[in-house]
Amino acid sequence: MEIGLKASMLTYSGGLGVYAGDLLKAAADLELPIVGVSLLPRQGYFQQSIGNGCQTESYPQWNLEKQGLKKLDKTVTVNLCGDDIKIQAWFYEQKGQTGEKVPILFLDTNVEGNQDWMKNYTKVLYGHDPDYRLAQEALLGIGGLRMLRALGYDNIQKYHMNEGHSAVLAAELLRELGDKDKVREKCVFTTHTPVDAGHDRFNEYHYVRPILGHDLANIALSVGFENNGLNMTKLALELSGYVNAVSKKHAQVAKQQFPGYNIQAITNGVHSLTWTSKPIKELLDKNYSGWSISPDKILSDVNLRYNEIIHAQRQAKRTLFDFISAYYPHLDFDPYVLTLGWGRRIADYKRPDLILSDVARLKSIAKATKRRIQIITAGKAHPNDPESKKIIKCMNDQFEKMGGDVEGLFLPNYNMNLGALMTSGVDFWVNTPRPPWEASGTSGMKALHNGVINWSTLDGWFCESHDEGKTGFSIGGPHDGNLEDRGDDNADREDFFRKLEDIVIPLYYEQPRQRARMMINSINEAGVYNTIRAMKEYWNAYGIDDRFKEA
Ligand SMILES: *Cc1c(COP(=O)(O)O)cnc(C)c1O
Repeated sequence: MEIGLKASMLTYSGGLGVYAGDLLKAAADLELPIVGVSLLPRQGYFQQSIGNGCQTESYPQWNLEKQGLKKLDKTVTVNLCGDDIKIQAWFYEQKGQTGEKVPILFLDTNVEGNQDWMKNYTKVLYGHDPDYRLAQEALLGIGGLRMLRALGYDNIQKYHMNEGHSAVLAAELLRELGDKDKVREKCVFTTHTPVDAGHDRFNEYHYVRPILGHDLANIALSVGFENNGLNMTKLALELSGYVNAVSKKHAQVAKQQFPGYNIQAITNGVHSLTWTSKPIKELLDKNYSGWSISPDKILSDVNLRYNEIIHAQRQAKRTLFDFISAYYPHLDFDPYVLTLGWGRRIADYKRPDLILSDVARLKSIAKATKRRIQIITAGKAHPNDPESKKIIKCMNDQFEKMGGDVEGLFLPNYNMNLGALMTSGVDFWVNTPRPPWEASGTSGMKALHNGVINWSTLDGWFCESHDEGKTGFSIGGPHDGNLEDRGDDNADREDFFRKLEDIVIPLYYEQPRQRARMMINSINEAGVYNTIRAMKEYWNAYGIDDRFKEA
């Protein structure tokens, strides 16, 4: 449903899309025969501004051609609600490091001859109303398949469904092939979240039958029926020959969530070159030649010099602070002061306000240690999510109470650019999801590429990377992955404050060598948490060919 390639191309909302983009970038680097398919949200995901502590949304025009998208002539037709809807595609080429290009198609119903309600389907990313949403998913699944064929991509070995959003594709293939096993040979599926809202379900009589029509509805429901309608995740699970979750921990959780399915783990990564700041990139170029195309080279323990890494990271910190002072001339952020960063979608399970909820405590820690603390946060709340919008207001209210030794702010419009600035420019990247709800998380992987130390609850990818005091710090204890266990916000908050006072502040201000050692250990982890590695794992798991098989 979303693919994020760059900040100015408004085709993504968060981590799911950014990861899809990062995988396609790695595929281009590896010169793989692969084509990406998504929808074109004409008005883009919203731009966020903050006024009086509250989020407001705007949808500035974005120019498709200027972003490198080219409109193709071919159109295909999908019948929804009994009407034929025409679809066209916008073509984008993602260039890899060797110059090889991966094509990406963005489907668009803003085609002459379509009525306005049809054109509307590719206006909003993740429409709110279920009828709109199911229509979008059908356009993506069926329209994507037809567009690939119309453009001559007719020898597709595997269709990868990224989340259940595209699962109508599998139903359509079943309609054509008439045999579940034949569809399973063609389809592979990745589930990305344990959070219930991430799994679309559509009522049979309100939505599925009227929108898909009886033929396709019968087929889809015969496979993905649950309670009173169609469960898109079930549809994808039933019709895929290979299913994976996005971290080892998530595979354990997903197996509880969907008992009876064989669910493997392929842990996420990030595209190293996209997410490494210039000064750190220069340092890596000097020490690990060829690292950006073979990131596993970073695993070897070259002796990065302590002062070099600290200096390079401080340059990235200055870049972030220059950006901040352009926005907030009255704020005086100091690159020599301990700085914590938090940035991601604002959602309840990510607990954006956990570390801000007790400003008095933060102040007393600063006083007791005689040290200053800076906190930088950012994140968008979905336009239809009033609870998350309230959290943004609460966060800003907390920042109002700060000043002096504890300073903090909420930066507007978290996007890929701001994400890159923040994950490279703070000292510690704080991640507070309530276990076991974070399937993987990727912003922490961006941080470690930049020598920024992760400080996170033990969930998602971090369970695999975490080595206390070496590659990062935990918040709260291990979690057994039981979905019924709601965790303990108070205990996690207490652990955070205790570590801040006893460990993190002394490490930052008094133990530069130990801190540099942790920064280098973090950078070494980039040898694992990158999409070159993840892409190869997908390729091998799908058995497409032997090019990445170890000799
Ligand atoms: C990386 C990224 C995310 C994902 O961050 P998580 O830690 O996985 O929540 C979300 N939004 C943007 C803009 C990103 O760059």
